[in-house]
Amino acid sequence: MTTDSTPDARTVLVTGGNRGIGLAIARAFVEAGDEVIITHRSGTPPEGLRGVICDVTDSDSVDAAFTQAEELLGRPIEVLVANAGITKDTLLMRMSDDDFEAVLDTNLTGAFRCARRAAKGMMRMRRGRIILISSVVGLYGSPGQANYAASKSALVGLARSITRELGGRGITANVVAPGFIETEMTAALPEERQKTYLAGIPAGRFATPAEVAGTVRFLAGPDAGYISGAVIPVDGGLGMGH
Ligand code: NDP
Repeated sequence: MTTDSTPDARTVLVTGGNRGIGLAIARAFVEAGDEVIITHRSGTPPEGLRGVICDVTDSDSVDAAFTQAEELLGRPIEVLVANAGITKDTLLMRMSDDDFEAVLDTNLTGAFRCARRAAKGMMRMRRGRIILISSVVGLYGSPGQANYAASKSALVGLARSITRELGGRGITANVVAPGFIETEMTAALPEERQKTYLAGIPAGRFATPAEVAGTVRFLAGPDAGYISGAVIPVDGGLGMGH
């Protein structure tokens, strides 16, 4: 099944790669000649991409998705991009247990489930790159996003613990923390809120999904082999490097 691959093509799995930032990341890896599988929850994958169905809140679904991806590619996943994420914004006093737990389950536990499954093959190969998509909000905080910020900051502890456990086996784990990116998620923000956010960004603009994708691709590439446990902001200076 690897007949169309370039000699050093990497096997890449991007969760939630059917739209938004995940789709831009998937396309960036395809452009680089890598063998990419995206996960989606329903429908068909976007044009030109291979997909497997996966709900990251369900360990069996994650396991089945990886198994299917490995069958399609003929070898284990070398690069995991844990991108799937949701928001359920509301002020702390109004936030229900469900609002909190649902966001943690997708954004944090979902990333953990995928990293754990991906590490199996990576440990056998003695190489691998795990890239967790966090947010500037994880370390900066944000009113109305206690659940989301908590889930995103916890990815730092996850990546750093993976680094300490598996660093000696040629596996790196890093966090990418995008600021405000032009996607459906930001388009859904009220206009006044968008203006307030823009005023606080030194770059004076939101980023494109391609700018996040370029950073993820760098972390998966040969020049980033000695970078692990890092938080890489792609936020136009908003978080000042955290
Ligand atoms: P979108 O809302 O456009 O896409 C979210 C993706 O996650 C979709 O593919 C969605 O699948 C998938 N997803 C959600 N829940 C699950 C689940 N339970 N199982 C599997 N897949 C799931 O988000 P963005 O592209 O804007 O964001 C992508 C990532 O980047 C997220 O982690 C987000 O938190 C982060 N981020 C985004 C920023 C932004 O400005 N947009 C800023 C900083 C970080 P489906 O299509 O089925 O719903």
